Amino acid sequence: MCMLPRFRSKSVRKIDRKGLGKKAKFRYVRKAGRGACCSICGAVLAGAKSSSRPSRIFGGALCPKCSLYIIKLAGKIKGGNMKLEDVDLGRREFVRCLVGQ
Ligand SMILES: [Zn+2]
Repeated sequence: MCMLPRFRSKSVRKIDRKGLGKKAKFRYVRKAGRGACCSICGAVLAGAKSSSRPSRIFGGALCPKCSLYIIKLAGKIKGGNMKLEDVDLGRREFVRCLVGQ
């Protein structure tokens, strides 16, 4: 059995397959990676890797709930009802993208 460098990775697992007769055979299968998820709440993003990707703002990065909340916060800041410093750190960078400060 050869142990090529690409098969030594932790993201590759070995599967036993039966060969002809009593021959032992192996197959290497790459483990499935973590799917796309929202960077604020961690919800799994639907369609982030499909052919019909969400083209809205923060599509593929944030879930619809979180992006709506960010847009609302940006509106409050633009209207002068809130300051950027009042937004918590996890959301501040996204709000800054919209506000442009
Ligand atoms: Zn979210």
